[in-house]
Amino acid sequence: MTSLKKALKTHFGFDSFRSKLQEDVVKAVIKGDRDVFVCMPTGAGKSLCYQLPAMLAQGITLVISPLIALIQDQVHHLRELNIPACSINSKLPAGERRMILTDLESESPKLKLLYITPEMVASPSFQPCLDGLCSRGLLSYLAVDEAHCVSQWGHDFRPDYLKLGELRTRLLGVPCLALTATAPKNVQEDILHSLRLRMPLHFATPVFRSNLRYDVIYRELLPNPYAHLHAFIKESLALVSGAKGQGCGIVYCRTRESCETVAHQLTKLGVSAKPYHAGLKAGDRTEAQSDWMQGKVLVIVATISFGMGVDKANVRFVAHWNLAKSLASYYQESGRAGRDGLPSSCRTYYSHRDKEQMNFLINKEVVRKQEKRGSAKDSDKAAITDFEAMVAFCEQEGCRHATISKFFGDKTPNCAGACDYCRNPKAVRAQIERAAVLSTK
Ligand code: ADP
Ligand code: MG
Ligand code: ZN
Repeated sequence: MTSLKKALKTHFGFDSFRSKLQEDVVKAVIKGDRDVFVCMPTGAGKSLCYQLPAMLAQGITLVISPLIALIQDQVHHLRELNIPACSINSKLPAGERRMILTDLESESPKLKLLYITPEMVASPSFQPCLDGLCSRGLLSYLAVDEAHCVSQWGHDFRPDYLKLGELRTRLLGVPCLALTATAPKNVQEDILHSLRLRMPLHFATPVFRSNLRYDVIYRELLPNPYAHLHAFIKESLALVSGAKGQGCGIVYCRTRESCETVAHQLTKLGVSAKPYHAGLKAGDRTEAQSDWMQGKVLVIVATISFGMGVDKANVRFVAHWNLAKSLASYYQESGRAGRDGLPSSCRTYYSHRDKEQMNFLINKEVVRKQEKRGSAKDSDKAAITDFEAMVAFCEQEGCRHATISKFFGDKTPNCAGACDYCRNPKAVRAQIERAAVLSTK
């Protein structure tokens, strides 16, 4: 066993790295000669990319994380592993804070990981400590977690993250590691720029997933949309058969009413389907989810509140009855299909009316925000541009996989017929033309 694997086992109890990518990142961070930029999906094990190097370094790793709750979770988890980690934050009792600072001022501090929010990093009270660590060469790494928070294009924008650029310039010589879940290209560029990463090594999980088949169906052209959805479900559930057992699927709808209607229609057509939305009693919602998890119900018809933290391997299809609010959300939601690597389908039912409705809702929200604030901001437009990318995905003639990869700044994948356009470009064009005729009527 290599010494790195040994350390992984001793400190974290893991027998192996989650992925080759995780291992490569850890090695690059330990090498320490370049800044590192990591894009990996949620749950891929990004924290370990700085936690393991932190354990193997002499000094202290400073971890920036946006929320005290997230920080407390991580610190708690590390302490259970007997790893000296703590956080300095506004909620900390003065006594504990004093103890931490005393350790940090000592000749050889015991602490390995110090978690901190961006506002605390910038606060005057923390500066002497930071300067002290820095001038004594005790900072091993600067890790910026949830780095997308630095971007005004992201939906979790936190102005305090912008101060990290300045911090970065003060910590010259300390390797910086920025981590984010898969993010659109413009958000990635913001991160590099704002954190002033210099020619960072870039590690990213490939965006393209070859087992997912994407297609777009213009709903307004269908004589019977529910029968169409029903046929899609039957076909998708038959993609994998035999020993692998029964698959299941998700239909996403925008409103509670449409969840109810679609679930009802599918049930009438003979598929076991249940609605899931915030209008249900908590008990019914939990039951719908667990029935689906256990395979008692094959299809869950849900608003987007469904799916966070749901990790089910055999999801054979994800259908969007209404348009997702952005291409980034669409990628995440549709990406719940095929986690087991087996063939799975992702379909969007596009409709012109649906698009108009979404545009109306988004604009209303932008205006509401501006009125509340009393002024307009460039970032207000983010929601609009995000949705435009989703619409373009549906309306354009081109490979769906390529569109997604490009959006996330990844290279053009070899789709090999895993989308409707690559399988039959003429059919895609014909659909667009028929819809155009319909909308001028
Ligand atoms: P991310 O930040 O990318 O969303 P986390 O760092 O929170 O992911 O890790 C997700 C889960 O994966 C955690 O429960 C973590 O303990 C686990 N994990 C990370 N690395 C490994 C590994 N090498 N082997 C097994 N589990 C791992
Ligand atoms: Mg994380
Ligand atoms: Zn394609």
